[in-house]
Amino acid sequence: MLRVAVVGSGPSGVYAAQALVEQTLVPGVRVDVLDRLPCPYGLVRYGVAPDHEKIKSLQNNLRGVLEHERVGFLGNVEVGARGLTPERLLGLYHAVVYCVGAARDRKLGVPGEDLVGSVSATDFVSWYSAHPDADPAGFALGARSAVVIGVGNVAVDVARVLARGAGELRPTDVPESALDVLDRSLVRDVHMVGRRGPSQAKFTTKELRELGSMPAARVVVEPSDLVLDPAFADPSGLAAASRRNVEVVRGWADGAPADGPERRIHLRFFLRPVEVVGEGGRVVAVRFERTEPDGAGGVRGTGAYEEVEAGLVLRAVGYRGVPLAGLPFDAASGTVPHLAGRVVRAGAASAGEYVAGWIKRGPTGVIGTNRPCAKETVASLLADAEELARRPVVEDVEPEVALRELGMRPVRWPGWLSIEEAEAHLGRSLGRRTVKIGDWPGLLGAAGA
Ligand code: NAP
Repeated sequence: MLRVAVVGSGPSGVYAAQALVEQTLVPGVRVDVLDRLPCPYGLVRYGVAPDHEKIKSLQNNLRGVLEHERVGFLGNVEVGARGLTPERLLGLYHAVVYCVGAARDRKLGVPGEDLVGSVSATDFVSWYSAHPDADPAGFALGARSAVVIGVGNVAVDVARVLARGAGELRPTDVPESALDVLDRSLVRDVHMVGRRGPSQAKFTTKELRELGSMPAARVVVEPSDLVLDPAFADPSGLAAASRRNVEVVRGWADGAPADGPERRIHLRFFLRPVEVVGEGGRVVAVRFERTEPDGAGGVRGTGAYEEVEAGLVLRAVGYRGVPLAGLPFDAASGTVPHLAGRVVRAGAASAGEYVAGWIKRGPTGVIGTNRPCAKETVASLLADAEELARRPVVEDVEPEVALRELGMRPVRWPGWLSIEEAEAHLGRSLGRRTVKIGDWPGLLGAAGA
């Protein structure tokens, strides 16, 4: 019988576990899903925006997998800490599937990026998602103008949360501390800025459209940005998704400006950040160079510059994988080298260690993309099953016992259910629905760890 560890309980980890226990090729596989946090679901819990309740409800599907009789959850277990190396894990399990995602943000590499008030969108997302590593007092939102750099879906998420009134977010699970800050927010203008054109933006149309449907905000586009994009005048050659994006942006450009809404989302294009400008150590503006298409899908600078006022700058220019000591890592792509999901060490794919999700293919795609990705990896693992079964699991000990001997305090599924119950209780006490607990002692206390 194969004993497999899946490291990471986000979508890719849970889909890998599901593929392992639902297949019939190798019967009886048992899976432990390990997570650094005491809570499961990865970015579905800590990345999907709180007002995207339909996507958040995916947790119910993931829950079904984690409650499968041959799946165990071991939260509060950090691989890489306390001597729990990849090598040690291979002593406890026949195979390990790493589904650790892409934990960091990419940097811009421009002067001023680290000024006070200039932060990664991922930090902002962690803050409003009640991630226990985020500082609840991390954001004050005392500026009138914010700049979001990047035009992907993360940029859309953070721009939307900044532009929504706290009242609109109260029915969600946003932590009370963030809701208070959003309630007092002075932000009125959110500038979301792309270095290329609207036809090349990475956001998806559904997410883009949503920006135009908020009761307290309106979208403003600059016609002078749009004319630079040749595909804007003639979108016929574009892929369907980009063509739809262009149509939505065109609708905003053509429409009469809506009166009333107190907040504005300025959608800007063909501006690349060259400096985050500060005064007294705090960000006050972002300096952009105007770009133009280079004819090959990219842009070149024009030598013209523009400054946009900003008391808050959020970099939403993509995630980046981080190396895990003891596992190979390709720094250029931020991924673990692999062949069809098998980790490649010293040029050869070996049975025993696998990857799935963003650490395998980079931080792209929607949640559903992880399902076929995990299936490919599991197919490789199953093809190796005979070899894996011959490999003796060195330590004849229950993994949980071994983890406790390392000084870890794993949170099992009932512990997580207690956290859920505590969050529902907290919500009720505040006259709201479930409200997330956002600190380590609170989570571990609720789990009874
Ligand atoms: P992304 O889709 O890769 O977008 C990154 C954006 O940053 C692009 O506009 C990119 O422009 C820009 N950028 C990169 N480097 C830059 C630089 N040096 N200067 C200026 N701009 C720069 O990344 P993401 O928004 O972090 O999203 C990650 C993945 O999660 C995506 O697959 C996304 O769809 C998914 N996601 C989905 C949802 C949802 O479905 N609701 C929500 C959040 C995230 P270029 O194109 O010019 O490189």
